[in-house]
Amino acid sequence: MRIDLHTHTTASDGTDTPGDLVRAAAAAGLDVVAITDHDSTAGWDAAFAARPAGLTVVPGVEFSCVHQAADGRRTSLHLLGYFADPDNVAIQDEWARLRASRRTRGKAMVDSLVADGYPITWEQVSLLAASGSVGRPHIGRALVDAGVVPDVSTAFTELLSSRQKYYVRKADADVFDAIRLVREAGGLPVFAHPIARRRGPVVSDEVIAAMAAAGMVGIEVDHPDHDPADRAHAAGLARELGLLGTGSSDYHGTNKPTELGACLTDPEVYERLLALPAALKPVGE
Ligand code: AMP
Ligand code: ZN
Ligand code: FE
Ligand code: FE
Repeated sequence: MRIDLHTHTTASDGTDTPGDLVRAAAAAGLDVVAITDHDSTAGWDAAFAARPAGLTVVPGVEFSCVHQAADGRRTSLHLLGYFADPDNVAIQDEWARLRASRRTRGKAMVDSLVADGYPITWEQVSLLAASGSVGRPHIGRALVDAGVVPDVSTAFTELLSSRQKYYVRKADADVFDAIRLVREAGGLPVFAHPIARRRGPVVSDEVIAAMAAAGMVGIEVDHPDHDPADRAHAAGLARELGLLGTGSSDYHGTNKPTELGACLTDPEVYERLLALPAALKPVGE
């Protein structure tokens, strides 16, 4: 069984439509793929409808969150929520708020790049994002199309990362509120890439323990942004805290070099995830 529990479509900042993504997942030899767009369930139905025989689709969302320390320090982090009820009003309202902030913030970043002479426009970025959740990869794509950088990864290192002057913060949900919202919607929260240091600061093991105590059920262990030492550490934490340790590619189509199935979830871990009570079931045979 080949199981990839974290991917993005054109409903957020991936480049495959949901239909293309499930077909690509089957072609890549996956048995199970989760659709986890940023702050949106908009890709689910098209993915279910296009699902090739033999592939199981797991409905998920990657929730934009922030941890605020007692000293005021803010760390942005991503929480995956699987099998949440898409009709839950409280969580949909929060995701709608986050998507609106993504647009305002995307426009602010574009304005700041334009003010320094970069030849892109908000119309272009908006078109690239279409009706999906706007993200920095869309701005990166516009910069590639304008010939400013060779690829989206370079756009991040030179202009878009949280360490660069063009970075603007978006609204995020407090991570403990997000865990509660996911649980109250019948979903299963899993911490995405908990120690992806090259993206920016990460939270301490104590914060991860507090998230577990608040109802989180797992953490990503195998992820392209975790080096071998990070994976060993995450696996140890999962054991210690009684969390599921998952593996995922975080595939974004051509917006990132990572292939579908680049990291996988152990079938036994997947079975334990499915055994937990949740509002939805995976869509498959
Ligand atoms: P945003 O949601 O707008 O803050 O943008 C974050 C998204 O950009 C994440 O989902 C990442 O997948 C993607 N991202 C972050 N760092 C990089 C990078 N160095 N190269 C390509 N994509 C990245
Ligand atoms: Zn993304
Ligand atoms: Fe993420
Ligand atoms: Fe992601």
